[in-house]
Amino acid sequence: MTEQKYPLNWKKKDFSIKIFCSIPNIATGILLKAGDAHFVIDPGDGILRDLNKELGVKKLLEISDVFVTHGHHDHVGGVWSLLTYLRVMQKKSPLTIHYPDGCVEIESIYNAFKKVYSRSITYKINLKAIKKTNGFTTNNITVKPFPVIHKEYLSTGKMRQVPALGYNFIYDGAKICYGGDTAYCEELVVHARNADLAILEAGHDDETPDDMHMTMNEAVAIGKSAKKYFLVHVPE
Ligand SMILES: [Zn+2]
Ligand SMILES: [Zn+2]
Repeated sequence: MTEQKYPLNWKKKDFSIKIFCSIPNIATGILLKAGDAHFVIDPGDGILRDLNKELGVKKLLEISDVFVTHGHHDHVGGVWSLLTYLRVMQKKSPLTIHYPDGCVEIESIYNAFKKVYSRSITYKINLKAIKKTNGFTTNNITVKPFPVIHKEYLSTGKMRQVPALGYNFIYDGAKICYGGDTAYCEELVVHARNADLAILEAGHDDETPDDMHMTMNEAVAIGKSAKKYFLVHVPE
């Protein structure tokens, strides 16, 4: 299981996930459905186009939660247009954005959005910085975040760990484990094991392990411990 064609779909009764795309440095976009509830994960560039096509306006306006794994542009590039679209279409119900504590990208986008549209925002936005990886339930889905290892280069050439999470999503006895962007790490190994679906990045472009992405062999090794797995974020 190497090359995957997007979108990727998985479904168990009325719990389903659709990965519109997951291309490193370009864009990610994921829609999660649990019963009547819709959630968005890692809204990269193009998410609005994909959600509009998939859901139509009415259901798009009912999206209750957004889950962000980390602030890299290929995971948050669509947040501005999503927030703005929901305002233009006069969303009334609140939207909660869950993100790793310290993710300045999400807080900056939110602050700029609030500043620009201070007089015309029609819905409440709850920013939920995840500080502790305790599980919680929102709109009938149980969410268990976990820390992962993901770094980025500074202009000095040094690397720094970015605030980064993976998420377990649990509904009706089934579990989806999404690792986000991560190097091989024990947390992911533990959480992916026996998951009904593990979504694993294989973003490294060769087989030399590093602290940014998993190699294909690392991702496959973890994937085999789950009931089913998708490899995503594979360089194109
Ligand atoms: Zn990425
Ligand atoms: Zn990243």
